[in-house]
Amino acid sequence: MTSITPADFKAMRFVCSAPNARAFPEPDGAEIAFAGRSNAGKSSALNALCERTGLARTSKTPGRTQAINFFSSDRLRFADLPGYGFARVPPAVKAAWQSLIEGYLATRAPLAGIVLIMDSRRPLLDFDRQLIDWGMQQGLGFHLLLTKADKLSRNQQVNTLRRVEREMPEASAQLFSATKRQGIDEARAAIAAFADGVNEQVVE
Ligand code: GDP
Repeated sequence: MTSITPADFKAMRFVCSAPNARAFPEPDGAEIAFAGRSNAGKSSALNALCERTGLARTSKTPGRTQAINFFSSDRLRFADLPGYGFARVPPAVKAAWQSLIEGYLATRAPLAGIVLIMDSRRPLLDFDRQLIDWGMQQGLGFHLLLTKADKLSRNQQVNTLRRVEREMPEASAQLFSATKRQGIDEARAAIAAFADGVNEQVVE
């Protein structure tokens, strides 16, 4: 199986929006989950990676969507998890979010890895850490995307990346900016490495 190329990202299309596990699409090759706090820049990152403006909807209403949005192309599938971390979300909504996400992450067979989007000005907040710890216990690999890097000086960028790498040595990490299109090749390579791992297992 040849490796994922930029064309596989550009060919991504919306598949469905799943408010619960029954609505998940049939597994179809390697799947990469995108997670992050609301407003971290997840939709912007997805759109930048796929070179599309409206693929993942950027929202001014934080925490609005409580569904997993699936996107696919021939050899790649993304699961865009609803953003987390809004203080004023009612406990019932929080609980529904948690059961949707845990149900997905714990049982999804073709899940190849998680891209965790964090605002580079505020990386590794409590819930980010909990998700990483929990996911790693399930044997899931993480790629940490430190976005909005354009808001940091060059020095701050270097220091932030070093700190995150030091604190999370088992994950890969990088700086990213959707606005400046910084880090796109590196992110695509990390995603391709996750996907190639799963696709190879299928072939063997
Ligand atoms: P989501 O809630 O995680 O999907 O976040 P969005 O992609 O909707 O982005 C939240 C806000 O951050 C929006 O106002 C975006 O314009 C802004 N944003 C996202 N990515 C970047 C970036 O790389 N640089 C800058 N400066 N702003 C960004």
